[in-house]
Amino acid sequence: MRTVFWTRVLVLMLAAVLVCAGCGTPESPPAPAGPCAIVTNGTPQAKQEGTDDESAPETATGYRTGMTPVRTGHYAVATANPLATQAACEVLRDGGTAADALVAAQAVLGLVEPQSSGIGGGGFLLYYDAAAKSVQAFDGREVAPAAATENYLRWVSDTDRTAPKPDARGSGRSIGVPGIVRMLADVHTAHGRTAWRDLFTPAVRLADDGFDISPRLAAAIADAAPRLRLEEQAGAYFLNPDGSPRSADTRLTNPAYAKTLGAIATDPAALYTGPIAADIVAAATDPSGGRTPSLMTVEDLAGYTAKTREALCVPYRGRQICGMPPPSSGGIAVAETLGVLEHFAMADHRPTDLDRDGGRPTVQGVHLIAEAERLAYADRDRYVADTDFVALPGGSPDALLGADYLAGRASLISPDRTMGTAKPGEFGPPTAPVAPVPEHGTSQVSIVDAQGNAASLTTTVESAFGSFHMVDGFLLNNQLTDFSAEPAGPDGAPVANRVAPGKRPRSTMAPTLIFDAGPAGSLGPLYAVTGSPGGSTIVQFVVKTVVGLLDWGLDPQQAVSMVDFGAANSPTTNVGGEHPVIDISDDGRHDPLVTGLRELGHQVDIADQSSGLSAIVRADPGWVGGADPRREGVVMGDGR
Ligand code: GLU
Repeated sequence: MRTVFWTRVLVLMLAAVLVCAGCGTPESPPAPAGPCAIVTNGTPQAKQEGTDDESAPETATGYRTGMTPVRTGHYAVATANPLATQAACEVLRDGGTAADALVAAQAVLGLVEPQSSGIGGGGFLLYYDAAAKSVQAFDGREVAPAAATENYLRWVSDTDRTAPKPDARGSGRSIGVPGIVRMLADVHTAHGRTAWRDLFTPAVRLADDGFDISPRLAAAIADAAPRLRLEEQAGAYFLNPDGSPRSADTRLTNPAYAKTLGAIATDPAALYTGPIAADIVAAATDPSGGRTPSLMTVEDLAGYTAKTREALCVPYRGRQICGMPPPSSGGIAVAETLGVLEHFAMADHRPTDLDRDGGRPTVQGVHLIAEAERLAYADRDRYVADTDFVALPGGSPDALLGADYLAGRASLISPDRTMGTAKPGEFGPPTAPVAPVPEHGTSQVSIVDAQGNAASLTTTVESAFGSFHMVDGFLLNNQLTDFSAEPAGPDGAPVANRVAPGKRPRSTMAPTLIFDAGPAGSLGPLYAVTGSPGGSTIVQFVVKTVVGLLDWGLDPQQAVSMVDFGAANSPTTNVGGEHPVIDISDDGRHDPLVTGLRELGHQVDIADQSSGLSAIVRADPGWVGGADPRREGVVMGDGR
């Protein structure tokens, strides 16, 4: 089915566009596209059977080889779906800001990529205001209801100490108070130029007129069908009347979503008060089918606020890398990894056989990055949570990112042998590490507008289809499963990321903006926008992209196309087997990267990776962007 779809897509294919200077690859002939035109890029390869990461809820859906970067003049946007990219691009074309374009993109993504993000979820945003030359971090993370206790995810109640049913995710307990709409409304108030109401028009039109289920959505539906069958609203929408999954190219309309968007277009508070809020609470607390209800109330919704936080900016290779502070651990973990890598001559480890797919990563390059990540994840696992509840060591990110500390961490890396599992730094009373859980219901939006503003938004319902609870045309998240269900470790020490009322679960989302370094540590001109979904592996996806851009001189398409590799804090090192350069036969025994890493002691896992990266980089003049060949995203802008 997927292959048939892609074959049809190929008929529309135009090889795009230009190659950045210094990429070391042959130039493709320029094929200028009209502004905001959907142009398919690359040659889809069907996914091989049996290569899934069984623990990853969102199915991998193959790889598009030979994607070329898209060069634009004044504005550019990348999302994980062509219809969402187009809606956002048209906002930019008509003079809207990055803030405006975000709203249009999210409204469409919630319709056409509902497995990954939507108005029932949350997100984190880094926003660059070009006129003020400042970066703001917006926190639209979901929160735990006021009635949640530290045992909320593991017990039905203090007197009924059995697990929530059917499990924490599918019960009401996983559902956090949604944050994305409030956050986007705040961003729009601060930075928008187009009328809020108008930003919903493309999504409402698509919801009313219908859109075709994409191959990736179809694969996600097929994967989740047994769970969707248990849900009345989600089942009726995503499944055929006989219970079979709706397939790619099926036309779907969603009048309930159109109606909800209409209310939000009139007033964003419509999600948080009144009938929609009442419907959310009713769905989350619905005990039918034996589901353990949420303890969310309409007061929880009415009381939700998005937060503005200070962006976390660190130097790397003469640039400033700005990321998301807690409650996401993504910014700190990316910054610590890069701070360790700064002690190594990474430019010496550039991929070989460089081609449009990013070439063949070197053993030493992957080894050093994976080791630096182990060290960063060890600290992230132990110390990072919602800082409104649990302070970081020393009370700020500085302790984990201090020059002496990073030099000490770097000295723990041997070029000849993996450390396997890293120890966290010693910063006082430990909290128990929590094993990373793969979670993949997330999407990345990267934007630069014609005024020079930029946005990197990572937006999520947590796992694919969130909690499977659907209300008024949208899915409710399962973000609270990002908390540690166990409030204390085996030694009885409290876990930093335990549940508490009003607390935000720790995230790994890492929206990232890169700037030239200005005088005295200030931000110079914007250089790049990037980010990715991928749950706890997000740090690995973002780091390989940043190193690819800054150390290896790859263009943004090569950097995101390059093999996904890296490690959390375990002896396992990921090398994405979906990439055509990796020989996955005989469990990688004939692949030089895999065997080279195994010789250094790495336990290499070659399961398919499912990043959803995008990157937009300054091209002087204009911008050049790349979208992840592992999903369906495209870059658009004003063609040059
Ligand atoms: N819930 C995850 C987080 O906040 C994101 C899930 C994903 O990327 O798929 O880190």
